[in-house]
Amino acid sequence: MSVRISNNTMEVFNPETGEDITNISMTTLQELDSILQKAKTEAEKYNYSSFFRRQKLMTQLQKGIVRRTDEFIDTICSETGKKPDEGLMEVFISLEHIKQSSHHLYEALGKRSRRSGILKTRKAWVEYEPMGVAGIISPWNYPLILTVSPLVEALLAGNTVVLKPSEHTPLTTQLLKRVWDESTERPELFQPVYGAGEIGNALVTSSFTDVICFTGSTAIGRKIAEACAPLFKPVILELGGKDPMIILEDADIDRSVDAAIWGGLSNAGQTCISVERIFAHEKVYPEVVEKLKREIQTLSSGKGETPIGAISVDVSLEKIRDQVSEAKNNSDVFEGNADEGRFIPPCLVVNPPFEAKILQEETFGPVMTIHPFQSDNDAIELANKTGYGLSASVFGKSRKRINFISRRVNAGVVSINDVLTHYGIADLPFGGKGLSGMGKVHGREGLRAFSHQKSYMDNRISFKAEFWWYKRSKKFAQVLRKLIKWQYS
Ligand code: NAD
Repeated sequence: MSVRISNNTMEVFNPETGEDITNISMTTLQELDSILQKAKTEAEKYNYSSFFRRQKLMTQLQKGIVRRTDEFIDTICSETGKKPDEGLMEVFISLEHIKQSSHHLYEALGKRSRRSGILKTRKAWVEYEPMGVAGIISPWNYPLILTVSPLVEALLAGNTVVLKPSEHTPLTTQLLKRVWDESTERPELFQPVYGAGEIGNALVTSSFTDVICFTGSTAIGRKIAEACAPLFKPVILELGGKDPMIILEDADIDRSVDAAIWGGLSNAGQTCISVERIFAHEKVYPEVVEKLKREIQTLSSGKGETPIGAISVDVSLEKIRDQVSEAKNNSDVFEGNADEGRFIPPCLVVNPPFEAKILQEETFGPVMTIHPFQSDNDAIELANKTGYGLSASVFGKSRKRINFISRRVNAGVVSINDVLTHYGIADLPFGGKGLSGMGKVHGREGLRAFSHQKSYMDNRISFKAEFWWYKRSKKFAQVLRKLIKWQYS
């Protein structure tokens, strides 16, 4: 791991170099309780704040992050082992999300009238109200964007936030909190807590949290769903993936290969939407395998200038090594280079059997598998062979075939002739199905996920009594029958 936990202290170290960075005290359960009480008290006021006020806070945060761009890059890279350009991309995407989510606020959460149908004398409308206190739990693989995006959506929707970053990456959240406090002077609206599963579980089950947004593994996501169910607590679950990439025979093969390399290996494959499984039409399969193999063998993982960085946490390192070592017993495996230490060589596993661990479990490393397919239906069947459904990509020219496949593939998002980039479109709802979770973040749907939709009805004209109330006329049923015939037959 990039952290050692002892005596309520998290000793954070750099996974690339192994150097110690700093120690952080873990939040105790008593401290969590008083933080949550404060969040609840503040929520009673902030829940009624104007959209304008909330947008102003986001602009202040956005500008604060821009001022500290370099500090964010250094912090992200030092606690994850990412490359500086990867840290910079994270800052950029986070800023785009803040700006665009703010921009969509009125459209997403503004009062909306509804048709009153046959009840012409009634006025009907919908308003979105905050839930209260949002509990947010984030993972380590993108410590800024996966913290900023739910934080901003929850705050824009009018909730106060108590947020627990991964125990492996607390420093980016610490910096974000400093920037929030100095830019907005509203420290009580966003309070981080630090620790591992115990504090996360306490946040989920606390009677002070009104909605939970969890981003992390499917295994922990299941535990969170189980904890929320008896409390009827709304929960957004953004979980793991095993994303397929389908390459049709009319695809631009060079673009597809470069996209697979980027989609599968950037951030050392530690991306929930990274390309893990490639399926290429049998006519182009040999060419795709050959080109991918050539590319992969020129790439390396390591320190400094090498393109692929470290694996951030120990359990992940062990899991990837275990999957690749099993694959070497039953398939052809082509690898690039790797430095000594927490680095995995970029790797292509050719045609492994379906029961292999590498196809059954999320890999979350710089490793991809490839299989041939014969027909579009085969491609769909292969792509849907896991219970995951996060994102998918289809490469080809025929729109008809692309549409046929895209509509049948199990995924929350489908990219056409592209990979990963959809995450940068802040207005596009993001979230998976099946083992990849439920609920959406981003876009109007993300803002609504942190809101309670309340319906209203009012009378345009108020009579003394309604004709269907008690004391109604004897002709009531006769009139209603006539109305049914006139309106619906
Ligand atoms: P993880 O599930 O181990 O941990 C995620 C968070 O949950 C951490 O903050 C952890 O401390 C906390 N936690 C652990 N036990 C808990 C409990 N019992 N109750 C409450 N909180 C608890 O995941 P990870 O290793 O940090 O992240 C990697 C996983 O996240 C991968 O599976 C990846 O695919 C997934 N992920 C999904 C998305 C998405 O948007 N769908 C994005 C990034 C990562």
